[in-house]
Amino acid sequence: MIDLTIKQALQKLKSREISATELTRAYLNRIEQFGKDLNCYITVTPERALADATASDERYANGNALPLDGMPIAMKDLFATRGIRTTAASRMLENFVPEYESTVSQKFIDAGTVLLGKANLDEFAMGTFSKTSYFGAPVNPWQIEKHLTAGGSSGGSTSAVAGGLAIAATGTDTGGSIRFPSAMTGLVGMKPTYGLCSRWGCVAFASSLDTPGPIARTVEDTALMLAAMAGHDSKDSTSSPKAIFETDGNLQPVLGNGKKLRIGIIKEFNNVKISDDMKTLFEKRIADLKSLGAEIVEVSIPNILDALAAYYIIAPAEASSNLARYDGMRYGLRIEGDGPYDTYKKTRAAGFGEEVQRRMIIGTAVLSSESYEVYFMQAARVRRMIADSFKDAFDKCDLIVCPSSAGTAMPLDSDLTPLEYYALDLFTVAMNLAGIPAASVPCGLATNGLPLGIQVVGPRFSDMRVLQLAKHIEECAQIDNRPTKIMGK
Ligand code: GLN
Repeated sequence: MIDLTIKQALQKLKSREISATELTRAYLNRIEQFGKDLNCYITVTPERALADATASDERYANGNALPLDGMPIAMKDLFATRGIRTTAASRMLENFVPEYESTVSQKFIDAGTVLLGKANLDEFAMGTFSKTSYFGAPVNPWQIEKHLTAGGSSGGSTSAVAGGLAIAATGTDTGGSIRFPSAMTGLVGMKPTYGLCSRWGCVAFASSLDTPGPIARTVEDTALMLAAMAGHDSKDSTSSPKAIFETDGNLQPVLGNGKKLRIGIIKEFNNVKISDDMKTLFEKRIADLKSLGAEIVEVSIPNILDALAAYYIIAPAEASSNLARYDGMRYGLRIEGDGPYDTYKKTRAAGFGEEVQRRMIIGTAVLSSESYEVYFMQAARVRRMIADSFKDAFDKCDLIVCPSSAGTAMPLDSDLTPLEYYALDLFTVAMNLAGIPAASVPCGLATNGLPLGIQVVGPRFSDMRVLQLAKHIEECAQIDNRPTKIMGK
């Protein structure tokens, strides 16, 4: 049962071939079987899941089923869930139980989904391998014996979905945290337009970049998930009144039958070193799109290679401000010290891991009066130039495609320096700086048998089109990402 896509499972539930309770039990068994090895959940919520499933079965029986009724999903443990521990994978919030529900998780309740649990991630979503989690790193279900990363920061979400421990999951993408892990695990992951999905109740990392989004096994499942998450929210001041995304799960082709579509390739990425497999698969998929009638054009985003530097100034700056609230006074960890100042110090030294502390230091440094103009303001200017260049590029093409990563998933014990980790975000951060939608879709398997992904990028609010083109790529690549295939059982 765990090989079903959302679309297939909904069909079977509607025809009463299976029940939501049966489906949920299949996933709970799977979690029982592989949850420890994959370490993809921080908290499993079996009682809640079964109660959700019972309610769902009643709705099916009464003929008032909701859009995603009975779909067992994983929620990244960054979304506050009322009465369920929400940790952000940090010791700071190890025992934090929110009294409120994030907008996104509430929307999934309203769509009839079943909550299986809270997915593992990098601490406060800072990282690329999910190794900075206080709860240990999740493992990639592909070639599980090799202990590869499932990517980060939404690595628990991708590990769970790829391994069949959830039918789909939520993620958040501040600089690539949905797209990179999806690419590493043969999944589809989308960073929607900034403002399409509410950030309310989602633990903040870098507010001007943080973007909640879906992770699923197919492009159409991703669209169904996005439709459930999207929508204007008056509780989030950056939520757009234009935040509408609707679909019945059938994406219309944008290529073939004489349809015209101009696809842009970013010139500046041509000189970036990528693996031979990535190069070959990228070229293959471009050739496929060409033969479907797409016109391929070269576009230039002159400052795109500076996006990394700008991101690693802006993101830590915002993070240092957002994370100032964890001081041991109101909630979260508190280590008693000698007076309030000492309590702050002891609490923050013990509550935050090394990477989070590094970001706090970088963030406060670039915001200090002597650095603000030369670092922070300069980065903000680069950000503006990148956003403007994308706008210009979209005069010349309808959508852009580019790799999601340079190569396949690396072993979790790879010994990389912080800067080497940061460099892995090269292909993803620019879209966050520009606030534009980007989806990663599998483009094939590398010679080592591991999946690779390419991104489809579009102008603001072209989310539907992005997914429509992604579906063509999915159809051309034809990778088999059924969990029982990946895990061999
Ligand atoms: N890898 C990036 C970082 O560490 C992106 C993280 C994210 O998108 N949450 O900041």
